Amino acid sequence: MGILYIVATPIGNLEDMTFRALKTLKEADLIVCEDTRQTMKLLSHYQISKPLVSYFQHSKFSKIEYIAQQLSEGKTVALVTDAGTPGISDPGGALINQLVSSSGGQFKTEEPKGREAAEAEKLRIIPIPGPNAAVAALSISGFPVDKFFFMGFPPHKKGRNKYFEQVVGQKNTVVFYESTHRILKSLNQLKEILPERKMVVCRELTKQFESIYRGTAEEILKILESDKNNQKGEFVVVIKSD
Ligand code: SAM
Repeated sequence: MGILYIVATPIGNLEDMTFRALKTLKEADLIVCEDTRQTMKLLSHYQISKPLVSYFQHSKFSKIEYIAQQLSEGKTVALVTDAGTPGISDPGGALINQLVSSSGGQFKTEEPKGREAAEAEKLRIIPIPGPNAAVAALSISGFPVDKFFFMGFPPHKKGRNKYFEQVVGQKNTVVFYESTHRILKSLNQLKEILPERKMVVCRELTKQFESIYRGTAEEILKILESDKNNQKGEFVVVIKSD
């Protein structure tokens, strides 16, 4: 059985690649990615040329079978997503889950084997740690982060009120992801339910227009609404606990 490496890649600045991540991509037989155009930018920056297979949210089961087959033939597969650590609010987690399940069933042998042979048949999944947008935002927040609650993305429509009710109930620092399309909506909702609460909104971390906005939801909204450019890009919101 081959090895599946889960490789974290930059969240913007291509120089945030670890030596180990580069070595792993250079030595892999196959790279599984989300959007091939995105991964190609990274690979060409580091002059890495490898077969790429795209895996994304709505991938057909046959794609998973293909990847599982490659692993069963002893190939080394590196999984990357568009940015950051695979599996954290991206399709990486679902793929890993399916591969773990299929290696438990499809590749199990009928005959009882010795410990070594049994170990060789198991799918090894090895993390290559690196950038993650939520952790980067927490690290500069200045809020207590010995404990924190990561909430992924707020739902687009249904369930938003419930989601933000959970934020109110949290006793620890809260961190969540938001897109350019809904950042104003989320901050307006936070302004209503937590008017006094301190927060940090991180935009375009590690990129050219990286911006860190600190204050209450109302204060940050003023900055964002003062210039449409301040609303562009990718966002992480960190909220201080009570
Ligand atoms: N797996 C990624 C990670 O480890 O951070 C997260 C993937 S999730 C699909 C993408 C979201 O992460 C964006 O919508 C944004 O909320 C956040 N994000 C990713 N890169 C970012 C950046 N450079 N600056 C701010 N937020 C970012």
